[in-house]
Amino acid sequence: MTHILKQALKTALGRRHFIKWSAAAGSAAIVTGSGLPLKGLAASALPNPEKNTEKQEKTVWSACTVNCGSRCALRHHVSNGVITHTETDNTGQDIYGDHQVRACLRGRSFRQRVYNPDRLKFPMRRVGKRGEGRFERISWDEALDTIADSLKHIKEEYGNEAIYINYATGTLGGTVSKSWPPAATPFARLMNGWGGYLNHYGDYSTAQIAVSLPYLYGGSWVGNNCTSDLINTKLMVNFGNNPAETRMSGGGITYHLSEAKQRSKARMITFDPRKTDTTLTDGDEWIPLRPGTDAALVAGMAWVMIREDLVDHSFLDRYTIGYDEESLPDTAPEGASWTSYILGKGEDQTEKTPQWAAAITGIPANTIIRLAREIALTKPCNIMQGWGLQRTAAGEQASRAICMLAVMTGNVGIPGGGTGAREGSYSIPFSAFPELENPVTTAIPMFLWTDAIYRHKEMTALTDGIRGADRLKAPIKFIWNYAGNCLVNQHADTNRTHKILQDDTQCEIIVVVDNHMTASARYADILLPDLTAAEQPDFTTNGSCGNMGYAIFCDTAVKPLYECRSIYSICSSLAKRLGIEQQYTEGRSQEEWLQAIYKESRKINSHLPDFQTFRKQGIVKQKNPGEPHVEFRSFRENPESHPLGTPSGKIEIYSQRLADIAGSWKLGKDDIIKPLPEYAPSWEGHQSALTEKYPLQMFGFHFKARTHSTYGNVDLLKDANRQELWLNPVDAQKRGIKDGALLKVWNNRGEIRIIAKVTERIIPGTVAMGQGSWYAPDKNGIDRGACMNTLTTQRPSPLAKGNPQHTNLVEVAIA
Ligand code: SF4
Repeated sequence: MTHILKQALKTALGRRHFIKWSAAAGSAAIVTGSGLPLKGLAASALPNPEKNTEKQEKTVWSACTVNCGSRCALRHHVSNGVITHTETDNTGQDIYGDHQVRACLRGRSFRQRVYNPDRLKFPMRRVGKRGEGRFERISWDEALDTIADSLKHIKEEYGNEAIYINYATGTLGGTVSKSWPPAATPFARLMNGWGGYLNHYGDYSTAQIAVSLPYLYGGSWVGNNCTSDLINTKLMVNFGNNPAETRMSGGGITYHLSEAKQRSKARMITFDPRKTDTTLTDGDEWIPLRPGTDAALVAGMAWVMIREDLVDHSFLDRYTIGYDEESLPDTAPEGASWTSYILGKGEDQTEKTPQWAAAITGIPANTIIRLAREIALTKPCNIMQGWGLQRTAAGEQASRAICMLAVMTGNVGIPGGGTGAREGSYSIPFSAFPELENPVTTAIPMFLWTDAIYRHKEMTALTDGIRGADRLKAPIKFIWNYAGNCLVNQHADTNRTHKILQDDTQCEIIVVVDNHMTASARYADILLPDLTAAEQPDFTTNGSCGNMGYAIFCDTAVKPLYECRSIYSICSSLAKRLGIEQQYTEGRSQEEWLQAIYKESRKINSHLPDFQTFRKQGIVKQKNPGEPHVEFRSFRENPESHPLGTPSGKIEIYSQRLADIAGSWKLGKDDIIKPLPEYAPSWEGHQSALTEKYPLQMFGFHFKARTHSTYGNVDLLKDANRQELWLNPVDAQKRGIKDGALLKVWNNRGEIRIIAKVTERIIPGTVAMGQGSWYAPDKNGIDRGACMNTLTTQRPSPLAKGNPQHTNLVEVAIA
């Protein structure tokens, strides 16, 4: 084995692994320090240098296309057909607006995913019980025939509504290899050409806010002013938004936020139960609050603003309905306005004083008063929220309530102001892979797919938020799961999910296409090995950013490993078996599709160079030619000519549509849907009776070692960022816990093992851990992988039927 290849593989795999080259066999094997072959990594993975005809050294542009909200350039250095190391964007002048799109540590460790010991190598078929992770190797023909036969049988017996494409975001940044949104994936195109599949709406990131804010502002998605508009603001009020740990790219929000803040010199106040890295690096004041109490804080500040007459009356009078009794719609009862609710003249007859809010939020009343005055009197002021706080039991109410600060202070629709939603972004226009139209119109809430497996007959529009039909006609019998870990790991209540999936008399077949043996892949009936982004051509455009958009060409850095195939190739082969090959491929290869999509993109974006130039230069950057986006600017300038998409055309503080839903839907005990953005106590929060048994609130956060669960099997990242449970010294002391102790964390849904991180960076009464760690139950069902979803609930939120993954009560002790 050549020295250079040995060095390359050593670099790629890390010091703990050795490479043995057998000249006789003409193959290499990777072994651990103990001499045992590494799981799943066979000799055939490695290029044989003696047969290698590839150019010795090259640098290939690619990208990290995972779901972190950013998207980064990678430049793979390839030696003798092996990626030896990965660098990032080195173009531009590296000044704000022409900056480098630099990857974080995750993207730079990409080769550790390509050559990972967990890499799937061949098509496989389940042989044990579903979820046991026992498989046998089969041929591609056998795998594809089995899938096609199952599809035909299920379509005939149950109809296309029994086929489901699971939420999956592992390659959401791809163009042809796209895994999200489901309707834009290669599987959606395949199924749409063959009668369709059961849709879902919502996603694990934004289910509650996506449904709730349109009741306030109208439309289908509510944004905020672009991050680059923050140069115009005087005060930044940040509810739980934490780009320094989520959107870490040099071309993403964390960079833009820092740059904009340096220019505006605006003060940043952050409300969060945890002192995040964003607060540490860019924040000026951290206000710790209890999880799930944001709406109570807003109500307390609203009381101060109303009582001290600090609200923007001219804005409220012209642009809103429901602020006071005079502006309530005729259909609303007396006392249903926002001021009545805040001042104790509404249904609950409770004044939302700062003292009332202090008791709920844990924030001292005088702090609430001080901040309410500062927010009302500093203009323009940008109110912004992250998405974590809406992934809660009453997240719909909380996300709408935060926007009330922007509405009451008249900051909506002006530069430097904002809506209260998450930051906006500039993107360059680009065409997409055409997905065709889905003939099936029925859609379930994304979070209820496990329910649709076993209780579809009960699921109606009024009980479970079914859309496009009154009720579900068929159970889910077939699941596609491409590049996603939401079959188990990223879905809630893993033990419950395991039980549902293990019963293969319910869902008959699960097809997983992925790079690695993830927690979800273990539940496959047919498991297909996918190419990584380094082994196929594709391109990607920027994720969330500020004043500069970009597109990156992801070229083929190394030949496909093992028997892995691209998702496009897999779908094309299935299309042939289903009799729709020509319709699916239109006679094009993946490369030809990219050329066709790029050609279309150039029609809508004349700044793009020709295809070969794009490929060669790797990245195309485009500075926003106009002013930073200001959400609802035209409405603010002329509300009569540019009404909002609400029934009244105005901001609906009181929503009659929500009042109607609250009156007609069948809701669970303690489920609250209100026409006003009121505070709703959580059914598993600090005020619930369950605290006697499980006294600590638990939530998750995005973790630097992973993008959700992607990169979760990269040892380098795991070593640098170990999975820990954050808890306050007050709670640790009560339990005799010292920093670094091994803990057990449990509730009535499950139990995990995790290391303690004792820190004052989290509010007492609350514990938190990085989400996305890989579920690894031992024989007693104790999750040694410390996946937070072993402890989360499947109970959906009331309105969106979304995932309340930060609403949990637990107890903690030394293991
Ligand atoms: S994980 Fe996100 S920030 Fe990191 S390299 Fe990938 S896209 Fe960039």
